[in-house]
Amino acid sequence: MVKGIINKIIRFSAVDGPGNRTVIFMQNCNFNCSYCHNPETINSCTSCGICISSCNSNALKLVNNKMYFDANLCTSCDNCTNICPTYSSPKTQEYTVDELFKIILKAKPFISGITISGGECTVQYNFLKEILIRAKKENISAFIDTNGHLEPDKMKKLSKYFDKAMFDIKSFEEKEHFKLTGITNNYVLQNADFLLKSDKIYEIRTVIVSNFLNNKNNVEKISKLISNSQSTANYKLIKFKNHSVKSKYKLTEPSDETILELKTIAENNNCNCIIV
Ligand code: SF4
Ligand code: SF4
Repeated sequence: MVKGIINKIIRFSAVDGPGNRTVIFMQNCNFNCSYCHNPETINSCTSCGICISSCNSNALKLVNNKMYFDANLCTSCDNCTNICPTYSSPKTQEYTVDELFKIILKAKPFISGITISGGECTVQYNFLKEILIRAKKENISAFIDTNGHLEPDKMKKLSKYFDKAMFDIKSFEEKEHFKLTGITNNYVLQNADFLLKSDKIYEIRTVIVSNFLNNKNNVEKISKLISNSQSTANYKLIKFKNHSVKSKYKLTEPSDETILELKTIAENNNCNCIIV
């Protein structure tokens, strides 16, 4: 049975899609964004054991050459991640789909659905697909939260199984996208176009960073992409916040005036624009 690597599960969240949702944060990401707020979700733990001695709570040990983590002892000090050569986390856990749904089904009476997030959830494609298929069987609404970088054929297949996607377009321009994430946006734009036209997107998100991204150009082009598709998707503009971001670039938080100006651009292009 296929197993997935999970960073964490939040049983009840009001900010990861409509209503109250259980959110599954998968480990691994194929982007390396300069503004990432959760860089410990990017790489996998290789069970090298280096971080064990950094844990003053004895929450970590190797069992049969695999990292074992005792959540009851952990004080969330982050020593282990800070000392890890790849800034990974030893606190990830493997789940089968059955194990995951034992947790989800307990929450089912109280939630509007589940959202599978990350990291980047599509990196663990087979596991993700199994979760979505099971959610359909259990009659549970399933959203994915994605950076959109997946071969378009695979995204088309996957879209049969999820209800809606929360979809990042980090930059409309290829070079700028590459500078920000380390990957081009070819797949992202192809998938956005297909999913918007299929009305499979709940919201498109763009993080606004001053002095680094051409925000006006991005908002102008992305809002037109959304409205020209006739989709019901919202356009969410996310204000970059500098806390806990380690970047080789100088990234600047945008002013409220800048955000309002961008919102006006999106609204003039007939988008329902939300600011967070
Ligand atoms: S978290 Fe990093 S340091 Fe710790 S065992 Fe995993 S790979 Fe090694
Ligand atoms: S975050 Fe938890 S597991 Fe990691 S070093 Fe701190 S107490 Fe140990």
